Amino acid sequence: MDETIFYGRHLLRSEYTGEWDEEEEAMRLIVTEGFNKENSQLTCNRCGTLCTMTVSYPCVCQNRCKYCRQCIKLGKITECSHLYSLEEPNQFPKYAYPYLKWTGTLSKQQAQASKDIRESIDHNSDRMIWAVAGAGKTEMLFEGVGQALEEGKRVCLATPRVDVALELAPRLIKAFPEVSLAVLYGGTEVPYQYTQLVISTTHQLYRFKEAFDVLIIDEVDAFPYYLNDALYFASEKARKIVSSVIYLTATPDKSMQKRIKRREIEASILPARYHGRPLPVPVGIWVKKSILKTKQNDTHIIIRHMKRLIEEGKQFLLFIPTISLMEQLMPIFEHSFKQSTFEWVHSQDPHRKEKVKKMREGGLQFLMTTTILERGVTFPNIDVIVMNADHRVFTEAALVQIAGRVGRAPDYPSGEVTYYHEVWTRAMKNAIKQIKNMNAVAARSGYLV
Ligand SMILES: [Zn+2]
Ligand SMILES: [Zn+2]
Repeated sequence: MDETIFYGRHLLRSEYTGEWDEEEEAMRLIVTEGFNKENSQLTCNRCGTLCTMTVSYPCVCQNRCKYCRQCIKLGKITECSHLYSLEEPNQFPKYAYPYLKWTGTLSKQQAQASKDIRESIDHNSDRMIWAVAGAGKTEMLFEGVGQALEEGKRVCLATPRVDVALELAPRLIKAFPEVSLAVLYGGTEVPYQYTQLVISTTHQLYRFKEAFDVLIIDEVDAFPYYLNDALYFASEKARKIVSSVIYLTATPDKSMQKRIKRREIEASILPARYHGRPLPVPVGIWVKKSILKTKQNDTHIIIRHMKRLIEEGKQFLLFIPTISLMEQLMPIFEHSFKQSTFEWVHSQDPHRKEKVKKMREGGLQFLMTTTILERGVTFPNIDVIVMNADHRVFTEAALVQIAGRVGRAPDYPSGEVTYYHEVWTRAMKNAIKQIKNMNAVAARSGYLV
């Protein structure tokens, strides 16, 4: 049996495909029950979810068993399942060579954050990094990660989205070319291997147990509130007892902002972008009637706005809250923008990658999108229009992220962000307040050029 597969892991029997001798493995591996049973209540030991099943189902064990619905995508855990694990031995070279090969320069605030991160990793303590979109958060992790790797520590960078994991991988390989690295996500074809550096979707963290000396969790704000407990369980299980967790966010929610203010968690705030120009502040514009209800569509304020941008040769993203609204608008746009090139993308669109690429290369004048492009994607020089910004999908965090798409590149550090709305929502108000606040902090700290 290949023991390395079990180092710091938490696996079902079915997840190991090599040779298996039940008696021998039981002696060699740490074996725990799939469920924790207490007062006739079942809690899944892999994902921490309380089992609410009232009936049992016929099972491979010939009896009837309950199973965990929450983490079933990783393989079914039933009452008769076991989880297998081995202690993480950190079988990595120590101080072999300088690991970090990145030669870029950090901005003043990045350098400060990088120092904070190194200290937290050194002290095995936790830290929140609150960095505006475009601050350059990946680069500020490099020194801390490099230092940890040199000390023989095992490091994981977890993110909720596969797209982001895949985008991060080549950047980390380039920065740490000599370090073994695995990229883990649902549906990958590459078999798991024991590596010192791991890039993982947060979901895959369930498969780890006390594995990481350093765990970096990206986009902690991207989780819907009800998923926060599950994420917390997964990260607490995946980190070692003595370890450091670094949380990254561009838009912490209210409760997180309070924790930072009360100093319940150590935090580094990065209010400025790498290029040192302030964040574009969104403008709210009231709309009397939706385009769908306007007879002479071409006179509608949003269509006029779009036509102006096209005349100016400015590319833009048009955020639309739902796929169905997008579908209803399509014939109107096809009529109004006959001469223009545009596309639409949403989460179920199989061609979304090509369309985003086409937009980035300048092949489209505008791109209609649902909130899927609210984060992670960078276009060099665009404006943003949000239609029905008062819709409930546009939370404070979403609106801040959407505004963060604009003015990213040093050559084009500004742009317009417009929230069209019929009702002025608290989310819009707070988003604008948050952005203005960050600009003010950046100016006070001397980070703006
Ligand atoms: Zn579970
Ligand atoms: Zn069973």
